[in-house]
Amino acid sequence: MDLVVSVGRRRYCPLMLTHPSPDSAVVVGAGLGGLAAAMRLGAKGYRVTVLDRLDRPGGRGSSITKDGHRFDLGPTIVTMPEVFADLWAACGRDFHSEVDLRPMDPFYEIRWPDGSKFRAYQDTERMLEEVRRLSPGDVNGYLKFLKSAEARYRVGFEGLGRKPMHRLWDTLKVIPTFALLRADRSILGHASAYVRDPRLRMALSFHPLFIGGDPMHVTSMYALVSHLEKEYGVHYAIGGVQAIADAMVRVTEDQGGIVRLGAEADEILIENGAAKGVRLTDGEVLAAPTVVSNADAGHTYSRLLRNHRKTRWTDAKLNARRWSMGLFVWYFGTRGTAGKWPDVGHHTILNGPRYEGLLKEIFIKGRLADDMSLYLHRPSVTDPGVAPEGDDTFYALSPVPHLGWDDPVDWFEMRETYRQKVAKVLEETIPGFEAHLSASHILTPEDFRDRYLSPLGCGFSIEPRILQSAWFRPHNVSEEAKGLWLAGAGTHPGAGLPGVVSSAEVLAKMVPDAPRVAPEPQRMAAE
Ligand SMILES: Cc1cc2nc3c(=O)[nH]c(=O)nc-3n(C[C@H](O)[C@H](O)[C@H](O)COP(=O)(O)OP(=O)(O)OC[C@H]3O[C@@H](n4cnc5c(N)ncnc54)[C@H](O)[C@@H]3O)c2cc1C
Repeated sequence: MDLVVSVGRRRYCPLMLTHPSPDSAVVVGAGLGGLAAAMRLGAKGYRVTVLDRLDRPGGRGSSITKDGHRFDLGPTIVTMPEVFADLWAACGRDFHSEVDLRPMDPFYEIRWPDGSKFRAYQDTERMLEEVRRLSPGDVNGYLKFLKSAEARYRVGFEGLGRKPMHRLWDTLKVIPTFALLRADRSILGHASAYVRDPRLRMALSFHPLFIGGDPMHVTSMYALVSHLEKEYGVHYAIGGVQAIADAMVRVTEDQGGIVRLGAEADEILIENGAAKGVRLTDGEVLAAPTVVSNADAGHTYSRLLRNHRKTRWTDAKLNARRWSMGLFVWYFGTRGTAGKWPDVGHHTILNGPRYEGLLKEIFIKGRLADDMSLYLHRPSVTDPGVAPEGDDTFYALSPVPHLGWDDPVDWFEMRETYRQKVAKVLEETIPGFEAHLSASHILTPEDFRDRYLSPLGCGFSIEPRILQSAWFRPHNVSEEAKGLWLAGAGTHPGAGLPGVVSSAEVLAKMVPDAPRVAPEPQRMAAE
């Protein structure tokens, strides 16, 4: 029997399992939340090992390269770069000198089947022109909506999103303010109270879809995104979000941390109510009294803590949550099309014939609809490195039901049929594109389940409804074991890049600085 186990690149004798070095920390998952947590822990003096089962860091923010195209698999819109700048600053570094962020202008374009379009800009005057063009009578309502968005940003993002919310009192004490701000109202209901045009109502309420929420049910507090976009802009990272993840790995390694790819955690080890380390699927044990799980909160509690008796996050409790929708994403390349379709920019939202009806199918009935609304990503207009010269790289994303409904879609069967439906819809926007196809890759909810170990194949973990937010979400400091922490979309404050990076900031407000430890030999290092 091999009595020596490894901790990071070092090897220790088994005594270390019962007395792991107090300054060692393991982070399960190299998503943006996990990497942000690793950087924060590194800055606090911990010796950090990050594990991820994938072959690239970044999780949903990673990319794949196929037939000369780089496909950014998930996030494309970087809002609130300040959260990254603050993270880098906490590590004594400058984000903007390590990542090349480009502001988008316009932010994105929204299109409807009747041919009308709405472009979102940072500049208020230009936005007012857009509103006036669609619906002159809604200009005043739009200005009032913007004010309401700012109030929600102050309370929701600055007041709640970047602070620990594991004490019920911290959530209860904001209830009066929430009541004043009508947080009980849905964001679609909120937009509808300010503007009459159904297209504008959509344009002011769709943002929660990018973090997995149904605009007909998530709280109006998410109107804060309209303020956040106006105040901080919308950006794109050259090299994709993968470039941000890679930069995070560099910071972690410069701090002395280790990032191990192709390493899957099988179990988080708990002894006497406290984290003791992580066992990998190949049996290797990494001992550490500080463990951060960036795996989905559902996977963390139902799988990684399967042998531990849970007090709060039992399987029954997790099953009773409302989970975010699934995603069908078709990544494709087109040869010789650079400069073609000049009216199709970097980010385009293509509305189908129904907004509320489609939301109901996805979130309430759990049925795959015949119609669809698509988000079309064309990074090659901003980032030439994403495609071979003269070619284009795209992805088209369609929100679909997750896999937890009765009679879920069999995506193995459905994948090609649905791709053809998506192609038919895209034909109106990029006519003739199929004749130029040079690369193709598809992710369905089944791939989200198998690649990211995402419960029900969801795109964004637990849905951000009001009673599933702040204290009601799995806490950043685990309710189940001492020394166990959570970072990422399934914990507070929630999904999206600003959310998951903030989850690490919240965590760092609670984790103490790493204890000073005696020099190596006294810690029984075997090598
Ligand atoms: C298609 C798509 C588009 C999006 N667009 C945007 C956008 O434009 N802007 C925006 O802000 N947000 C967007 N989002 C949301 C955002 O990408 C996510 O909320 C965020 O990236 C999630 O980060 P995370 O830290 O929670 O972890 P994840 O990215 O989910 O990473 C978790 C990691 O943990 C690993 N892991 C899980 N279990 C184990 C285990 N047992 N052992 C080892 N490793 C494990 C997984 O392999 C994964 O790499 C989008 C998401 C998707 C899917």
